Amino acid sequence: MLSMKSVDPVKLTSKSSFKFRCHKDIECFTRCCRNIQILLTPYDIIRLKNRLGISTGEFLNDYTYIELEDKSSHPFVFLKMLKDDNCNCPFVNDSGCKIYNDRPANCRYYPVGQASLKKMDDKINETITEEFYFFVKESHCKGFNETKNWTIEEWREDQGVDIYDEMNRGWKEILFRRNLPGHVLDEKKQKAFYMACYDIDRFRKFIFESKFLDIFDIDEKTISKIKNDEIELMKFGFAYTKYILMMENNLKLKNKDL
Ligand code: SF4
Ligand code: SF4
Repeated sequence: MLSMKSVDPVKLTSKSSFKFRCHKDIECFTRCCRNIQILLTPYDIIRLKNRLGISTGEFLNDYTYIELEDKSSHPFVFLKMLKDDNCNCPFVNDSGCKIYNDRPANCRYYPVGQASLKKMDDKINETITEEFYFFVKESHCKGFNETKNWTIEEWREDQGVDIYDEMNRGWKEILFRRNLPGHVLDEKKQKAFYMACYDIDRFRKFIFESKFLDIFDIDEKTISKIKNDEIELMKFGFAYTKYILMMENNLKLKNKDL
């Protein structure tokens, strides 16, 4: 599990450089794939359930657990480690990661971490979001002893994280605002957030097999897109979540009396 002790407090930019190499002959190979807390994003879940050929419901049930920061917070989904002696990731074997091309964003970033901090900018008297990177330096990871040079930008490109950041943008926008006054979730809203952001196969049923389309005024083009493209459905899930959390008035009701 990642502990605060392993987080290097130095704030980094995309131009920061470091020496690192991870390869099959390194003595710690796959040592980082055990006893670790891996936060999953909505796009991670779609990639993984498709890789495994199962529904989001089956994936969430079999491979994940939920954590709340407090009773009324947004639910977070984590990958469940096996109950073996090492608490291994379910996807690791002696050759490495079995689902490497679809590994979660956090596995791609490692040993780099990403953070966002809300802070007051006294010059403009407004709250701004400061985004930065940091290193995760765990004693078992020998990759930092290697000589290959990277900037964080090059590492991001090599690991293919851009698409993950792009896909999860709407979800992150919701989470950035979670600590603002008024963003407290009751159980009903927590369940709606969970379904729309993580369990999109159930969300699809909710849209097309409930009275949703009788209640909301959704144009035909959007209906066709979300019916045929699960990435569009995921993005619509973020829009729906913003609507129910009263972050944006982005959906129209057909009849306000309903
Ligand atoms: S998903 Fe792959 S890379 Fe990530 S911890 Fe599991 S085995 Fe390692
Ligand atoms: S512990 Fe570090 S160097 Fe070793 S396999 Fe994991 S990421 Fe690579």
